[in-house]
Amino acid sequence: MIPVSEALKIVKGETFILSSETVDLNESIGRILAQEIIADMDLPPFDRSQMDGFAVRSQDTEKAPAKLKIVGESIAGKGFDGEIKTGETVRIMTGARVPSGADAVQIIELTQRADENFVEILGAAKPKQNIVKRAAEIKKGESIFRKGERITENMIAAIASFRYARVKVLRKPKVAILATGSEIVDISKTPKQDQIRNSNSIMLEVFGKKAGAETTVLPIAGDDISNLKLQISEALKKSDVLIITGGVSVGDYDFTKPALRELGAEIFFEKVSLKPGKPTVFAKLGGKLIFGLPGNPVSVAVTFFLFVRTALLKMQGAENCDLKKGMARVSATIKGAKGRDSYLPVSLATDEKGNLIVESLRFSGSSNFIAFSRADALVFVPQNTSLEAGDIAEILYLP
Ligand code: AMP
Ligand code: MG
Repeated sequence: MIPVSEALKIVKGETFILSSETVDLNESIGRILAQEIIADMDLPPFDRSQMDGFAVRSQDTEKAPAKLKIVGESIAGKGFDGEIKTGETVRIMTGARVPSGADAVQIIELTQRADENFVEILGAAKPKQNIVKRAAEIKKGESIFRKGERITENMIAAIASFRYARVKVLRKPKVAILATGSEIVDISKTPKQDQIRNSNSIMLEVFGKKAGAETTVLPIAGDDISNLKLQISEALKKSDVLIITGGVSVGDYDFTKPALRELGAEIFFEKVSLKPGKPTVFAKLGGKLIFGLPGNPVSVAVTFFLFVRTALLKMQGAENCDLKKGMARVSATIKGAKGRDSYLPVSLATDEKGNLIVESLRFSGSSNFIAFSRADALVFVPQNTSLEAGDIAEILYLP
């Protein structure tokens, strides 16, 4: 049995990085950048007016009211090219270029048009007032995003502004999902006596997609070693990663490990000091990664988030591939396990002071996916200890 940290180290060490490809920016959400994003121009590209009003030399308005001669206009898309001299002003619109000579913009509300050619500036304009200086947001050549950053919706405008209609990203890992168990039937079926629906495959499909993978769900493998071997070999031909659920324990009908061994896979670990998820298997065959997760849906979720997701993100070159850590106060006793570290799904709330609170979910066991459906995070309970109300615990946020 190895600690979770050791298992994670092995998984990361054995995970290869995929090749890159170029995709349209609007197809890039969730993908990991394989290139740096660099500003190809200053932003703003010129001194920009933030307001509708008059561009002035601030000195001219010191003793406001001041009557200035209107020598032109500067509008968005067509700035005023001349220079403003003493006693002159230019009508300017929001977003337009501030003409040379001007160092401030006075808002239209603080002006009064005297006649066609003259305007009265009613309030003194301070230098730089209502102007965003050229390159104040970013300078040409500056780096905006690094390789390894995951593209989010909020980044799109920033990337799009600098000539990246297409971006280089890491290829999506191809993930095959294989549920084992003679008792498992498709979710569209009504289970007969002794049968249950296959909730694991669809759960892994959506978790995998969220982690950036392209997923294929294989037909359910019964507890039949020759069929299992066949399905594993076929799956590995077409995928980078295979996730098997169930059949990893030592029951008479647990064939995942025997099948992997007979196929010649290298098994790196098969027991982790973890609850839930002790019998998790990690192996490699023909350079492909294989995860054998315990059959219980909650164990599947926890071990996916701890190990599989990490590998999927690492493959895509992500700089952050672990779950985000945090601290929260425990609201009631949460029991740990003897000889194993626990990573238990919990929901989070905030108390009246705004502190983050861990609320334990009522688990009747690692099969309780109904309780799991309310989980926001995993709380870490070190082996042979319990968390008591008021304790500050380490949590891992679920993505
Ligand atoms: P196993 O690890 O094969 O012994 O399975 C442990 C428990 O998880 C058993 O109660 C199984 O019925 C359940 N289980 C296994 N595979 C699935 C699945 N694909 N969907 C839902 N439950 C499953
Ligand atoms: Mg089974």
